[in-house]
Amino acid sequence: MAKLNPTRTIHVGSVPIGGAHPIVIQSMTNTKTHDIDATLGQIARLEGAGCAVVRLAVPDMDAVNAFRAIKDKTKLPLVADIHFDYKLAIAAIEAGADKIRINPGNIGGAERVRAVIDAARGAGIPIRIGVNAGSLEKHLLDKHGSPSPAALAESALSWITFFENENFGDTIVSIKASDVLTTINACRVLAAQTDTPQHIGITEAGTVRSGSIRSAVGIGVLLADGIGNTIRVSLAGDPVQEVYVAKEILKSLGLADGPTVIACPTCGRAEVDVAGVAEEVEAMVSGMDGSIKIAVMGCVVNGPGEAREADVGIAGGKGEWLIFVKGKPQKKVPASRVLEELAEEIRNS
Ligand code: SF4
Repeated sequence: MAKLNPTRTIHVGSVPIGGAHPIVIQSMTNTKTHDIDATLGQIARLEGAGCAVVRLAVPDMDAVNAFRAIKDKTKLPLVADIHFDYKLAIAAIEAGADKIRINPGNIGGAERVRAVIDAARGAGIPIRIGVNAGSLEKHLLDKHGSPSPAALAESALSWITFFENENFGDTIVSIKASDVLTTINACRVLAAQTDTPQHIGITEAGTVRSGSIRSAVGIGVLLADGIGNTIRVSLAGDPVQEVYVAKEILKSLGLADGPTVIACPTCGRAEVDVAGVAEEVEAMVSGMDGSIKIAVMGCVVNGPGEAREADVGIAGGKGEWLIFVKGKPQKKVPASRVLEELAEEIRNS
């Protein structure tokens, strides 16, 4: 794993982002922010899944008021997502936002961006500078001919410089495009030229299935390069799924702790429902601390050997499962008791 690019550290509420701090998982609610109860419910589910920072859309003043009420009832740091209206940004800061996300290019000019910076400075909160392929400044589009990686990085760098000229360094930057390679290359260009922490992700990634894959490729490549300090997996679906996918990406790269369930693809030797049992095991260990690797294998002949690197595993036989530890058989248990026996073995491991 490449060493993390050294960046500054910012704080979103109590959560540090950047420097040598662990990669932070973020998500965004998809409830109407005005619906305080529904939004709080979703925030609680996101927190339970392992999300550390949550962003809420703030499209109007009613949403600002709701944001204030929500902020009073959750400990999770909240980011206000603002488009176009600098007054909303300032109001959200006054309502207690732990960070605001703006696209400075669409906030109505330099003076208005300065007004937002002053408000954030007064509240002591960071600003995320969002640069998006879909809303790149016209002069950069004219210069580069398309929202290319160089154009996106140039936009981000010019805004970082603008904020620095205002003596405001409490920033984090995101460059997002729905094209995976454009995102990867733009973030690489940017990382080489700034120590500003990066929020990375593939925007409009797609449905839970395709979006998870595209996000894993884009975010995974960048993280493996040492780029990215906080991640958001954007999926058209329940945002809790975004958190699960983000955790799997981080665990895959050794950047987060947590149990990993591996399972064989099965073949003609399997006598059991490996996929079904693996899902049950995954649900059982979700939320557990530690970096244990648990294998669910389809047959007793090859399973324990194939999953030798797993800490604990089960291999299916007719009406029973073999429990093994580091590839070595321990005991056979009836199918009806396999989950509780496995849980016991995990506790003892
Ligand atoms: S563990 Fe057994 S069932 Fe699973 S793929 Fe290997 S040989 Fe097939």
